[in-house]
Amino acid sequence: MSATRPRIVVLSGSGISAESGLPTFRDANGLWRDHDWRQLASPEGWRRHPELLLEFYNERRAAAAQAQPNAAHRALAMLEANYDVHIVTQNVDDLHERGGSTQVLHLHGELAWARGTSPRRLRTHLGATPIRIGDVCADGTQLRPDIVWFGEAVDQLEPAAERVAQANKVLVVGTSLTVYPAASLVDFAPPHAERVVCALELEREPAGYRWLRGPATQEIPPLVERWLRETG
Ligand code: NAD
Repeated sequence: MSATRPRIVVLSGSGISAESGLPTFRDANGLWRDHDWRQLASPEGWRRHPELLLEFYNERRAAAAQAQPNAAHRALAMLEANYDVHIVTQNVDDLHERGGSTQVLHLHGELAWARGTSPRRLRTHLGATPIRIGDVCADGTQLRPDIVWFGEAVDQLEPAAERVAQANKVLVVGTSLTVYPAASLVDFAPPHAERVVCALELEREPAGYRWLRGPATQEIPPLVERWLRETG
């Protein structure tokens, strides 16, 4: 049934969760303040300061578990009544799922999951539980956050690009389009697709997109209402 419905692909970033109380990438402070985050959130950072990385992600996991989906997350879920909706998110929180969206692809991993450090990459569900040094998965290797760090491959990029390329509408929300390769996904939208970007500020304004320059909780619900009306 979903194949016959028009497809909407939503490319989301940390700005959509800002009004749920989770800091965006640029706002992130605390442990990041005294460190170069690009080095810390990297395989090299993990080798040099594993305790620091675990602490940083343990704090973020706890904060994400406390946060609640906001009006923008919930509005996007309502689109599923009339559209085949695919959320492709850079976010590592689960606010889209808890807001009601059912098809969510996490490009950069998920805070609620850990994985082993052998090539088998065995995944374990954590929920809000912290990871400590000495915590191991079923094959005996140390657990690490199941997050894609700088310098690591974004395995979900190709399926995400395929979804964007088949979209009738593309909505980009809450991302400054600075982190690659995720930012390149905006360019896979077909020329006939309606393209909208919602952000307070943008590093680059993507060609062919209409920019809604306001907070997601104010801009997204009316947009969703309009798109639902279009399909009767
Ligand atoms: P970014 O900080 O580079 O950009 C945030 C964007 O959101 C900006 O364009 C800003 O203008 C916009 N924004 C801020 N508040 C907004 C609001 N209320 N409504 C609408 N737009 C708003 O973040 P990014 O582009 O997502 O950076 C990418 C990286 O940050 C990703 O790798 C992601 O994994 C990571 N990250 C994720 C989370 C999360 O999961 N909640 C939080 C922080 C960082």
